[in-house]
Order: sequence, then structure tokens, then C-alpha cells
Amino acid sequence: MDSRQYKGLQIAIMGGIVEKEPCRWFVPSQTSKQRYFVRTTERGPVCSCLDFELRQKTCKHIWAVTYLDIWSNPEDFPDTDPITLERTKGKAPTKRIKSKSEIDISGVNYGIQS
Ligand SMILES: [Zn+2]
Repeated sequence: MDSRQYKGLQIAIMGGIVEKEPCRWFVPSQTSKQRYFVRTTERGPVCSCLDFELRQKTCKHIWAVTYLDIWSNPEDFPDTDPITLERTKGKAPTKRIKSKSEIDISGVNYGIQS
């Protein structure tokens, strides 16, 4: 598990993520009292933090929302291990963040770069 994914898991466990409206969340910072804003777009989820701004890739806040989503809607992710987010059989999961129809964020799971 990549370190951002692991930190996202910690944030999700810690709690405090607020779903402001569908597909929009405030995610607490691990290091300060700040909160970051995660939302889904046509190109996938985006976050207001510096890490995302610099890398344009899944940050720990997006991971945190992803975990929360999978835990609240496990039936939408059949055969997916809720911790590693890897599919337990077959191909890797096509994931989404609370957006059944409109947004495909299947790329999110593959934030583990070498
Ligand atoms: Zn972020």
C-alpha cells in the first residue's frame, strides 16, 4: 500500500470527513486544523491540497473519501477488499466516489506508481 493510501485510510478511520453535498467533501488535515475540499469532476476526483496541485494524482484526502465511500456502500464494490481496495478476484475494481452514473474515477485506484 502506498503511503498516501495508508494515510488516507488513517484519515477515514479518524473520521471528521463531511459530505457537504453529493460529490463534495471536506476532509480534515492530519497535520493542522485545516480542511481540504475534495470533489469529483469529469476527469476524476480533485483535491484542494498542495500535494494534489503539484502531482495531479490521488492524494491522501481523495483516498480517505474513497475508503469512506466503499465502507458506506460495500454493495457497490463487490469482490473488493475494503482495506487494500484491490479486487479479490478478476480484474481491478472500477471505482467511483458517490456518483453512480455521471463520473467514472476508475483511474483512482492506480495511484501506486513505481
Ligand atoms: Zn488532498
